[in-house]
Amino acid sequence: MVARRKTLTEFMFEEQRRAPQATGDFTALLNHIRLACKRIAFMVGRGALGEAVGEAGATNVQGEPQARLDVDANEVFLRSLEYGGHLAGMVSEELEGPYPIPDAYPRGKYLLAFDPLDGSSNIDVNVSVGSIFSVLRAPAGADRPQARDFLQPGTRQVCAGYAIYGPTTMLVLTVGRGTHGFTLDRGFGEFILTHPDMRIPADTREFAINTSNERFWEPPVKRYVAECVAGRTGPRGADFNMRWIASLVAEVHRILVRGGLFMYPQDTKDPAKPGRLRLLYEANPMAMIVAQAGGAASTGRGQILDVQPTELHQRVPVILGSKNEVERIERYHEEHAAGLDQPYTSPLFRERSLFAPS
Ligand code: MN
Ligand code: MN
Repeated sequence: MVARRKTLTEFMFEEQRRAPQATGDFTALLNHIRLACKRIAFMVGRGALGEAVGEAGATNVQGEPQARLDVDANEVFLRSLEYGGHLAGMVSEELEGPYPIPDAYPRGKYLLAFDPLDGSSNIDVNVSVGSIFSVLRAPAGADRPQARDFLQPGTRQVCAGYAIYGPTTMLVLTVGRGTHGFTLDRGFGEFILTHPDMRIPADTREFAINTSNERFWEPPVKRYVAECVAGRTGPRGADFNMRWIASLVAEVHRILVRGGLFMYPQDTKDPAKPGRLRLLYEANPMAMIVAQAGGAASTGRGQILDVQPTELHQRVPVILGSKNEVERIERYHEEHAAGLDQPYTSPLFRERSLFAPS
């Protein structure tokens, strides 16, 4: 008796039949995304044996050094998605402006925003990396979409997902009815539904933040982390654990599997950047995935999904994960704005070092 587990294809067909007006267009689009992720999984899995290793010797539009794999993964996405006839245009972390569908191919009704390779600085050290994608509807008449056509709030996403290339390759996605995880069976090359309806517990005792930026954090974030680090004898009355992988996909995946809180908050390090992560192809898709799993995603001052984008490569502060902790940090921002958190921002409190609470 063969174990009967649903494939991604079956899952998509079931979803399609639930939507009476569905044409199958969307199912086909997801098929192409799946193929792109499988190709990238293969490339990443080759490691130093593959062609695509090391630095590309160039920087992307945001001034970050590109790895060869960043460039190649971007090519895989473009080549896998441009010909299918389902997209009107694409936006990528690696491209300055929207990528127009070549004239040789038909154009469709969806827009795709993606980060072809997330966490690429982790490749050399063999730590999980991933791809992130967000699907929007093209505005009516946007046959050749301009940047403004992509500037839709995250609430308008019809689908969001990521692939994680770790010890196993997984595809985690939502089409607005829960968040579901599929594991790639390398034997026959299909994603299998192994994590149906992933849920993030409302409470957690685990947080993730880059503490080397502590001196740049805003007071509400300093307060939150100091309280966690103070542990059982502090105001939270409980010991907390910390994790930091520096790969958004891996951080979100951990939170989906066992709860937790991830923060890349607003800081004062570079006044030109109100956050580190990009809204359209990092924060928004992850916010939808987390929200569909019962978690929350905030800038600290409101839901990420409600932010009206103004630029393609706009950055936002990201605080996401277990709902009660995200809401607590939002409350700390409110209390700070109202001047109600003096004990935590007094000079005395600031003198205490994060790792040596007095
Ligand atoms: Mn990224
Ligand atoms: Mn990337």
